[in-house]
Amino acid sequence: MVGKEATLRLERGAVGSNSAGNRSATLATNRRTSPASQESVRHHNLALVAGHVVDNGPCSRAQIVRDTGFNKSTVSTLVGDLCALGILAESPAPTRGSIGRPPTLVRVSGDHVAALGLEIGVDYVKVAALDLAGDVRFGETVENDYAALGPEAATAALVELADRALALLSTEGLVAVGVGLGVAGLIDATGQLRVSYDLGWSDVDLVGMVRSDLGRPELAIGIYNEADLAAVGSRWTGVGRGFDNFVYVYGGAAVGAGVILDGQLFEGSHGFGGQFGHLLIDPDGPRCGCGARGCLVAFVGKDAVRDVTGIDSWMAQNPGTARIWLDALMERLRVGDPGPTDAIARVGASLAVGIDALVNLLDPEAIIVGGFLAELLPWMNDAITDHLNARVIGRRKVHYPVLASTQIYDAAVRGGAAVVLTRVLADPASITPLTLN
Ligand SMILES: [Zn+2]
Repeated sequence: MVGKEATLRLERGAVGSNSAGNRSATLATNRRTSPASQESVRHHNLALVAGHVVDNGPCSRAQIVRDTGFNKSTVSTLVGDLCALGILAESPAPTRGSIGRPPTLVRVSGDHVAALGLEIGVDYVKVAALDLAGDVRFGETVENDYAALGPEAATAALVELADRALALLSTEGLVAVGVGLGVAGLIDATGQLRVSYDLGWSDVDLVGMVRSDLGRPELAIGIYNEADLAAVGSRWTGVGRGFDNFVYVYGGAAVGAGVILDGQLFEGSHGFGGQFGHLLIDPDGPRCGCGARGCLVAFVGKDAVRDVTGIDSWMAQNPGTARIWLDALMERLRVGDPGPTDAIARVGASLAVGIDALVNLLDPEAIIVGGFLAELLPWMNDAITDHLNARVIGRRKVHYPVLASTQIYDAAVRGGAAVVLTRVLADPASITPLTLN
């Protein structure tokens, strides 16, 4: 059980992978220094050891000594401190019938520290709780027309789920150290939602509303664009793991992109980057919610896909089949119904125009597609590949994979928790030592 609340200061920006930070970090040694700088060296070294275990998986103290260059007693002290903080744990290695005492392995502890990821979508709210080892302890979604119901209804539904998640964590002996909230829209540097064309909201203090409803002032709450969080979530435990440069295209009612460059989330100079759905693909195209004409979202967003495939009228004419439009559509695609199949290929061709821009501009290792677009990717692949083969400048030298996310609908909430947890791992001393028993 954990007897003391851990706290963490969470700021916007500086979100990203612990591993990339560690890769560029240099070893700090314990030279003769002032107490303040000795303390900062200790913080740095704690992060280095925690990052080593995150990057390499369970390992022995001897391996940490070998890989970090610290001496045995320093590693012993640092591992002991990280265990006391609830960041790491030690346990015997699994044995394969060998005789003798199994070696003790150091691993990331999933038993003490956790964080919440929250997401407000156009027609749903979602909450997940992840522990420091990346395991999902709680995950629930409530569907409703929250864009129309408004921010008060959305945050109230969100907080109801968050309350249940926190209660569950508490009974399991975990301490929540922060909350990451994702929303489709422009978030400014002060954490205000300036505008969401998809939700139809502007100038809303969502963090303030969640904080006041939640009544847990000790919990730091950060707010981010949902596609940015999806990219972070994918790199933490999904398909993006191992990539330092990729773009996560998040397809729902809104279509956004989270950009990871050199292992760090790139939000733009004002935090307004990644507006993938508002790239121009047809100057004479339909009017978008943002006021401009011909935005990509009008061709590949959820409403557009339902419209061009005619799936809603097909469902009306075929009652008793699938209740969910996407299930019905995928069923039509599986049986090779030519109308929807051609329509989805055209959606793929439109999506490819946007992906082509990303690839030519950023030269990423991969493009990852999430949300409902990930489920339709098998029927769009040919159109996307043909387009990229014709348009991407580096095509003769490099293959740019377009991958479906494995966390199709959960990447953003996982990312919301991950932004908090990666900060804990980057500065383990930022949390108060836990009283463990
Ligand atoms: Zn637009």
